[in-house]
Amino acid sequence: MNETILSKELRELDIQHLFHPYTNPRQHEQVGPVVIERGEGVFVYDTNGQRYLEALAGLWSVAVGFGEPRLVEAAAKQMSMLPFYHLFAHKSHSPGIRLADKLCAMAPGQLSHVLFSNSGSEANDSVVKLVWFYNNSLGRPEKKKFIARKNGYHGITVASGSLTGLPANHNAFDLPKIPVIHLECPHYYRFGLEGESEQQFTDRLIKQLEDTIVAEGPDTIAAFIGEPVMGAGGVIVPPVGYWPRVQEVCRKYDVLLVVDEVITGFGRLGTMFASEHYGVEPDILVVSKQITSSYQPLGAVIFSEKLYQGIADKAGALGTFAHGLTAGGHPVATAVALENLAIIEERGLVANAKEVGAYMREGLGAFASHPMVGEVRGDGMIAAVELVADKASKRKFDPVGKVGAYLSGRSHEHGLIARNLGDTFAFCPPMIITKSEIDLMLSMFSKALDDTY
Ligand code: PLP
Repeated sequence: MNETILSKELRELDIQHLFHPYTNPRQHEQVGPVVIERGEGVFVYDTNGQRYLEALAGLWSVAVGFGEPRLVEAAAKQMSMLPFYHLFAHKSHSPGIRLADKLCAMAPGQLSHVLFSNSGSEANDSVVKLVWFYNNSLGRPEKKKFIARKNGYHGITVASGSLTGLPANHNAFDLPKIPVIHLECPHYYRFGLEGESEQQFTDRLIKQLEDTIVAEGPDTIAAFIGEPVMGAGGVIVPPVGYWPRVQEVCRKYDVLLVVDEVITGFGRLGTMFASEHYGVEPDILVVSKQITSSYQPLGAVIFSEKLYQGIADKAGALGTFAHGLTAGGHPVATAVALENLAIIEERGLVANAKEVGAYMREGLGAFASHPMVGEVRGDGMIAAVELVADKASKRKFDPVGKVGAYLSGRSHEHGLIARNLGDTFAFCPPMIITKSEIDLMLSMFSKALDDTY
């Protein structure tokens, strides 16, 4: 396709001035950006008019698709009524209040209070501080360590980046680590031992968790944090029976269970929250992304009455709870979230994620026999295809990521955007996607894989 004049101009300006997250700058100077101009349903269009099926819903987040007029109207209405107000020092606003109420009603278990942020990273930073504040309030200042998992992703700010267990987020940043212990990644295909069943793998992970808590001292371990299905770490589905047993160990040692549902929240696994799907009741639930379908930046920490009471006692004694973000719980973002959640409910998108997600995973399952495919995995409407250099030994490509990046490039040529996480190709389409659009996605992927092989 010929490059338009607009596209050329934007490309040059982009290379000169826009520093891109999660991008190799030197490579970017060579290849330049794909400039996306507009969206509609599950498709986005670049400035050359090329259409792409957005099989990652942007960044795992655009649940209702890319052209939902009701969200535009909700934002416009709120902007003209009250474009900004904050929640500091007893001030409040209606969409913030209504959304907090709705989230507590929707959330699994007995969660009663909501602290807003603008992003998932900030939400997880807030989790760390809430938990520390809570334990200080209870007079147990030693109970501060977090347990997270290798390959887990919880964000990139200093505290949330510490929780993240991906080397790339630590290397060369000299990230000052908060006290975090990273346990084994719960990926049976990669980390199950020779001859170990999936059930035995779960047993081993749970034993590692309990042994760690006991060795460190339960009075030093504040919380366990995990994503129900790891997203950025490679779409890792937990082994059989994993989550309820994590919860059991946490309860036994008075360790708070923090479930990071930034990707899985609001229907991705075919239930409103993945916590329900896997049978756990978190003390703290973290959400972002699909809460507004990413039409507006918003994150939320939804926490239990027990935490609230402890925090309120300490904050009362100190005179204030000195934490908050100017735009956290922004009225436009919370108004958009309310409308977005209404759409998810009215249109049965959670049920769609379940049904069409199963259809998607079945279709992707057909690639399991491909010579380059090591594993096809997923749950609900999130899945991944892991490419390997050698199927029998599961040997990775060297260097990791090169083949995945090549496949990503070929996919673009066929009109498909998904995301290569190293050599793992992830799919997490908008929850409105239909079976015929899944067929199109699969045929594009098949062509790109043929080009790569
Ligand atoms: N937690 C999880 C599970 C995520 O997937 C992400 C982002 O992908 C984050 C936290 C961080 O969110 P943000 O990029 O909005 O800071």
